[in-house]
Amino acid sequence: MAAEPTPPHNRPPSPQNPLSKMDQGLPRWSLWVIVAIVLLALLASFRLDTSSGEKIQYTDFLAKVEDGDIKNATWDNATTQITGQYDDGTKFETTGPPTPDESTMKLLREKTILTFETSEPGLLGQLLPLLLPIALLIGFFFWMQRRAQGQMTGIMSIGRSRAKTYSSERPATTFADVAGYEGVKQEIREVVDFLKEPERFGEIGARIPKGILLVGPPGTGKTLIARAVAGEAGVPFLSVSGSDFMEMFVGVGASRVRDLFESARKMGRAIIFIDEIDSIGRKRGAGLGGGHDEREQTLNQMLNEMDGFEATEGIVMMAATNRPDILDPALLRPGRFDRQVVVPLPELGDRRQILDVHVRHKRLAPDIDLDVVARGTPGMSGAELSNLVNEAALHAVRDGSQMIRNVDFEYARDRVLMGAKRESLVLSDKEKELTAFHEAGHAVCAAVLEHTDPLHKVTIIPMGMALGVTISLPAEDRHSYDQAYLEDSIVMAMGGRIAERLVFGVVSTGANNDLVVATERARKMVREWGMSDRIGPMAWGSQGQVFLGEDLMSTRDYSDDTARVIDEEVERILRDCEQRCADLLTRERAGLDMVARALLERETITGDDVSRCIAVSRGEQLPPEPTPPPVPQQPASYPPPPVPTPPRIPSLGAIKPPFAPPPDFSGA
Ligand code: ADP
Ligand code: MG
Ligand code: ZN
Repeated sequence: MAAEPTPPHNRPPSPQNPLSKMDQGLPRWSLWVIVAIVLLALLASFRLDTSSGEKIQYTDFLAKVEDGDIKNATWDNATTQITGQYDDGTKFETTGPPTPDESTMKLLREKTILTFETSEPGLLGQLLPLLLPIALLIGFFFWMQRRAQGQMTGIMSIGRSRAKTYSSERPATTFADVAGYEGVKQEIREVVDFLKEPERFGEIGARIPKGILLVGPPGTGKTLIARAVAGEAGVPFLSVSGSDFMEMFVGVGASRVRDLFESARKMGRAIIFIDEIDSIGRKRGAGLGGGHDEREQTLNQMLNEMDGFEATEGIVMMAATNRPDILDPALLRPGRFDRQVVVPLPELGDRRQILDVHVRHKRLAPDIDLDVVARGTPGMSGAELSNLVNEAALHAVRDGSQMIRNVDFEYARDRVLMGAKRESLVLSDKEKELTAFHEAGHAVCAAVLEHTDPLHKVTIIPMGMALGVTISLPAEDRHSYDQAYLEDSIVMAMGGRIAERLVFGVVSTGANNDLVVATERARKMVREWGMSDRIGPMAWGSQGQVFLGEDLMSTRDYSDDTARVIDEEVERILRDCEQRCADLLTRERAGLDMVARALLERETITGDDVSRCIAVSRGEQLPPEPTPPPVPQQPASYPPPPVPTPPRIPSLGAIKPPFAPPPDFSGA
């Protein structure tokens, strides 16, 4: 992609940066000193061992002396080494006792020419034992000193940016690797054009946005898109994570920022990408215990630098966050990150294309319809889809299959949505019965109520944390919800609990999560969506957005009276829904029993099964049995596609935050 050759000034800062090696503790030459010392030591020990010749035992030597085979011998008093020559001139050596005893001495004197000498163990040999500890000591002190210094110079060099530059191997990612998101790509293509030919924009006097903020839930491909921009434009990509700026020392982050921009400027054209910018870009002055000096300084420096470069220079800042709501407003004003590009959760079509990208190198069975898979995965991010495909592939391998089949995708989706099947968890019969009626309660509500999403399937096979699951799936992606839908969903959430109470007269802890979901929803209806007449059209946003952050500091902005009314309203909604649920299940008691029995028998039943049970129990004409299904090998759970939704609420399925979550992506 990078058509033009790199102009010399585009090179990244050279690696032999004088400061850079200070970072690594000991300087390089110290290594050579150590090597030299070791070598010398080796050499010295060799020197003591220089004499050559056949090595023989001392006793052999004595025997040879006795035989008169030895011409001469030299006994070294210092090392007790004996060297000499045989009669035939070949050399030998051996080691004896420090001094020969008298008889040996006599023997030696008679039979051979024996000389005694005391070898001088060479200057080195003498000094070495002395020098080595001293050298070690000196080395140690030197090292300590370096470390102390290193911390000083370290402070100087800590500031140097740790930005990774991809000068020569600039990212190979292109827009082709980003599936879907045509709108987002369109918006960003302008930036690519600018980076390719900044002059053209400059001539006209057009000002390209200096900073682009990619906003979206985790895993939607923000990082991917930023890399693709750099790849398309063929410019260096300086990417750094917001938290990389943070260091123990105040001021370090700021100097890193300075350095980052400096390197970018040296490159001429570049993209500076700051991932997870919220870690430095938080609103200043927020947080418990006052501000965070280091973060604020870093942020101030960044604001400064962003003002410092001219928009025509050819540097574009990009940043990604999933918490735009907590960013400091100063970051977002014109001239800084003045363009926000929302990268939402993928829509149906996008999901289809993302799936295409991720199955590219995988072997699929012919029965797989990716359209169906795409429709079955609303609310999943690109990262989750990629995970889904991988889980399916893993399952296929585990099953010994040659290809990824439909069942693998079914399994993977359940797994991604609800956690792995807990096959090892054995329910007692009593528990099973309780769970069956609990789920049947949800299911009957879902089937009978008018405004709920169509029921997909009900199971009492334990999954993840849930003992059973009722999944209802919207026919298409939903972006907003009306009051009737919300109320019905609360009724459905109550279904499990009420059914248990109706049938067994008691309520188990299994309903715990249902209540949390129902209460949270009712609270939002009252506080945020103005769905209570007594409260009226007022909204207070959601609470607890910034954990230990600003919100904890901020005071509640309504009076105690209002708080009381809110609580009363929430309670009213919940009680109304509970009553409706109880009425409904009492009315449909026969259907409830039937569904529960079907569940106990088959463990997993489809939404159609539930409808049929209810119809039979009412004595209605049976709806025509949906047999034979058009594609025979497809399990009945595949009428127009199953469409599960966020997993996080087991045994309720299909509950997602009403309204496509705009800035509040906190990743619930
Ligand atoms: P984010 O930075 O928004 O949290 P990433 O860019 O790290 O998300 O994306 C995570 C992974 O999800 C990517 O590596 C890619 O495999 C996959 N992914 C996300 N969106 C897409 C997409 N539009 N096309 C292809 N793959 C995607
Ligand atoms: Mg990312
Ligand atoms: Zn439940």
